[in-house]
Amino acid sequence: MPSPRPVSLTARALGVALLLSGVPAVTATAATSGPAAAPTVTAAEVMPHLQALQQIADRNGGNRAHGTRGYAESVAYVKQALDRAGFRTQLHRFWHDGKVGDNLIADWPGGDPNHVLLVGAHLDSVPMGPGINDNGSGSAAVLTTALQVAKAKSKPERHLRFAWWGAEELGMVGSADYVKNLPPTGRKAIDLYLNLDQAGSRNVQQYLVVKDPKNGGSAAFQAFENWFGARGLATFDIPLDSSDNQPFGDAGIPSSGFSSGVSDCLHSACDNLANVDPATQEISTNALIGVVWQFAAKTPATTTPVTSRS
Ligand code: ZN
Repeated sequence: MPSPRPVSLTARALGVALLLSGVPAVTATAATSGPAAAPTVTAAEVMPHLQALQQIADRNGGNRAHGTRGYAESVAYVKQALDRAGFRTQLHRFWHDGKVGDNLIADWPGGDPNHVLLVGAHLDSVPMGPGINDNGSGSAAVLTTALQVAKAKSKPERHLRFAWWGAEELGMVGSADYVKNLPPTGRKAIDLYLNLDQAGSRNVQQYLVVKDPKNGGSAAFQAFENWFGARGLATFDIPLDSSDNQPFGDAGIPSSGFSSGVSDCLHSACDNLANVDPATQEISTNALIGVVWQFAAKTPATTTPVTSRS
């Protein structure tokens, strides 16, 4: 991770100065961070992915669990969207409990292969339900972010890789398998891992942001804190032992990410489409897009992006 740039205060002051002088404030962001400001999406662009995952569960016994047809169809759905958008996709196969599982890995062509920003979410549900908040919501946010990268024809400094993990519900099995099978150079190349697990919870009190100072994830943690803080949304920091962050942390790879919190329907049949709040889903997706855009640069601007454009 690069150390925070000392220009942040200057940049903020510059933004204020430009605002006061009537020059569009977005110029300040562009001038100080290089790449274009992050795009934003509406719930209408994310929810169709959750509808698709719900339909997959509905026609496969009500779930999308490891080793089931529901999981395989979930992978096929996400892969098809990525392939159409120009990603290089691969399935990384693993076995667990005598059943086959796949991690879906999608690389956006370009960027420095020795400096990778990896963004992931688990795509499996538990057998008891369709897993739409846990974790169709995170999966849909990561997919939407990837599709925004393609739509913007991004030319990031870092290489961007997106991942959908299998068998998280059985103990982060898929992500652990991926980390375990990385060659030392591949492991070293991952500058940062960002994880989303439950991104559309109803009645959100706080966004739970993963804090990993030990491995160097503090800059990304702070970026999420800033993103939510700038919008008046409360946060609470959590350690990285609750989701697919853990295998990365165990391997010394810096990570962050967040969750919108556990719902009453966690791991139940009622974790369906109605268990996701489209407004939360929209916020979570835009938070992820915002932070991915920042860390696509090797030296991310530490200022909160100016959002005063109409
Ligand atoms: Zn989960």
